[in-house]
Amino acid sequence: MKPFELQSFEQRVVFGEDHLSTLLPLAQDFGMTRAMVLTTPGRTMGATAIAAALGERHFATFTGAVVHTPVEVTDRALNVLGDANGFISLGGGSAVGLGKALALRTGLPHIAIPTTYSGSEISPILGQTRDGKKTTIRDKRVVPQAVVYDVSLTLSLPLDLTVSSGFNAMAHAFEALYAPDRSPETDRFAVEAIAGFAQALPILVDAPRDWDARAMVLYAAYLSGRVLAARTMGLHHKLAHVLGGLYDLPHAPMHAALLPHVIRFNEAAAREQLRPAADALGHESAAEGLEALALKLNAPRHLAALGMPLDGAGVAAELVMQNPALNPRAYGASDIEKLLAAALGS
Ligand code: NAD
Repeated sequence: MKPFELQSFEQRVVFGEDHLSTLLPLAQDFGMTRAMVLTTPGRTMGATAIAAALGERHFATFTGAVVHTPVEVTDRALNVLGDANGFISLGGGSAVGLGKALALRTGLPHIAIPTTYSGSEISPILGQTRDGKKTTIRDKRVVPQAVVYDVSLTLSLPLDLTVSSGFNAMAHAFEALYAPDRSPETDRFAVEAIAGFAQALPILVDAPRDWDARAMVLYAAYLSGRVLAARTMGLHHKLAHVLGGLYDLPHAPMHAALLPHVIRFNEAAAREQLRPAADALGHESAAEGLEALALKLNAPRHLAALGMPLDGAGVAAELVMQNPALNPRAYGASDIEKLLAAALGS
């Protein structure tokens, strides 16, 4: 067996159905007597329910979380922090990201209640933007102390976001399979996650509120978060970071449009590592399996349709090459330009 190393983080994970009744004892355990609830503008009703469930332990609610965690938004939230002594984030990666940024600045505990499949709630990664430039850190201080998964919160996730967020999570699992620091444990998690998405996402196309399928997708997202937290991501995540920063593309749809192209590129050098993913998708090749799944789910397939300029590949390739990611297949600027030309889709 290949030697491996695994860094894990102290975190309580509750996977269940009733976040409101789970929350109060958790808030007590983490000494939150004045909790600040964080969310995006679209999730205010959920935040109000949490405030009511917290009762006297609720101190304030901030509903201004936005994508890419701009530092100005974190500053604004800090201005209303008062003497709050903990954060509860409700929402997708944007709300969770704000909770992580605030925890980093204050050292206060953070309970995350994710409602998408981003996996951010598990990872020690925080991407923040200042003046349109995104920088990413890996720091154990941003790992939420507790995560509460509640399947019922995901029933309202619109189908298009369900599919693209699922692809965002699958990207973590795919890149973990060929990571230079992969291990048997993360391989197993990654393959189980891919199989879960492949089985349950198509069910949600016809029945978006199917409880069992929603539960399977949420669990797959949790596993994907675990491997994102533990393993070094490759070219796909590098490209997503660069394109997100350069062209402000919507996060999850951009992952969906890119992933089959990157996997096609990398499969030439990582066929064996990707074989279990191909099997889970029921195809000879992992890239073909992903393309077929993307078609079946009507996933976003063209970066141009998401707002990437048709002549934007050159600048992106230059930026990628300034600080290349570890990747199973070596690449140069012309490879990136070719890959992006295909993903642009014109
Ligand atoms: P998001 O959090 O921006 O949510 C997208 C939209 O969906 C928002 O309008 C939100 O209000 C709405 N929404 C969320 N859950 C919903 C639900 N259950 N029902 C109905 N509407 C719902 O999107 P995201 O893709 O989850 O997160 C993107 C952000 O997360 C980016 O900033 C990205 O960089 C970050 N991210 C970080 C990590 C990490 O490990 N640090 C990993 C993945 C993503």
